[in-house]
Amino acid sequence: MQFDVIIVGGSFAGLSAALQLGRARRTALVIDAGERRNRFALAAHGFLGRDGVAPDKIITEATSQLARYVTVAGLKASASKAGCTEEGFYVGTHDDTFHGKRLILAGGVADALPDIPGLADRWGKSIFHCPYCHGYELERGPIGVLATSALSMHHAMMLPDWGPTTLLVNDSFIPDETQRSALAGRGVSVEEGHIRRIFGQRPTVELANGRTIEFAGIFTLSRTMGGPMAEQLGCDLKDGPLGSFIGVDEQQQTSVPGVFACGDVARAAGSIALAVSDGSMAGVAAHRSLIF
Ligand SMILES: Cc1cc2nc3c(=O)[nH]c(=O)nc-3n(C[C@H](O)[C@H](O)[C@H](O)COP(=O)(O)OP(=O)(O)OC[C@H]3O[C@@H](n4cnc5c(N)ncnc54)[C@H](O)[C@@H]3O)c2cc1C
Repeated sequence: MQFDVIIVGGSFAGLSAALQLGRARRTALVIDAGERRNRFALAAHGFLGRDGVAPDKIITEATSQLARYVTVAGLKASASKAGCTEEGFYVGTHDDTFHGKRLILAGGVADALPDIPGLADRWGKSIFHCPYCHGYELERGPIGVLATSALSMHHAMMLPDWGPTTLLVNDSFIPDETQRSALAGRGVSVEEGHIRRIFGQRPTVELANGRTIEFAGIFTLSRTMGGPMAEQLGCDLKDGPLGSFIGVDEQQQTSVPGVFACGDVARAAGSIALAVSDGSMAGVAAHRSLIF
């Protein structure tokens, strides 16, 4: 089947792109596997007008609003391959192949979490990566920063604005004197021991020596991974502090003409608001590229 635009990923970025294309009365196919990055969280914060709303609810409402644009189709599937054709691009799922004159990559990223028993079960509920998204709700209670590398200094320096902060070094790096004095200047205490596990409704860290410390919430950094599609297409990638992402210009155009990328997959760090904004630009830019 031939579409003006195929969008891989139908979450905040992809649906935002589809909305602009639908409003331009262009045909678009949104292929979505339904694994949004924030599916573990009960509420989404920091998105103007929808602060505190369940992410599922935002997506369900967006999808139902899109349903009135008859040129936009949705497909629940995982796209496994993509490539160039004479007229544009093809995208393959397990069952089918689709053709588009333009392609928008909006597949987000997956989080690779530190391998500590009890951490993954609490991801998005009491263990987070983004203070702006989930810091306020901790009501200035005690906060743990679970270090993964020296990059966690950034987290540890920021989080005192949300509550009294302890940096849990967990053998991931050794803070030097300058770092220790910067942490002390922000009132951050440093806990050196190895972490054995995390348990409890209020996340509680058990150190190797058996001591436990209870927090209102814990912040840690994940490694982020985009899908293989950008590489299959030959799009340039950039190295970010947490993982690689697709390089785009201010129109969300990648290094491959006709391929646009938006949302978390095309930035070093993202949020819902930024994904919606990127997606909107990608939709408009893909549309304009069909004309000019
Ligand atoms: C635990 C947690 C909580 C968060 N809380 C907040 C918050 O409160 N506020 C906030 O602003 N941000 C929050 N974020 C960040 C937010 O989730 C992301 O910035 C946002 O989801 C990015 O939107 P996106 O559309 O780029 O990607 P995603 O929302 O991750 O969606 C990508 C979609 O593409 C699909 N997909 C991927 N590959 C394929 C493929 N090959 N074929 C078909 N479909 C594919 C996926 O299944 C998914 O549905 C949170 C993140 C996490 C991890």
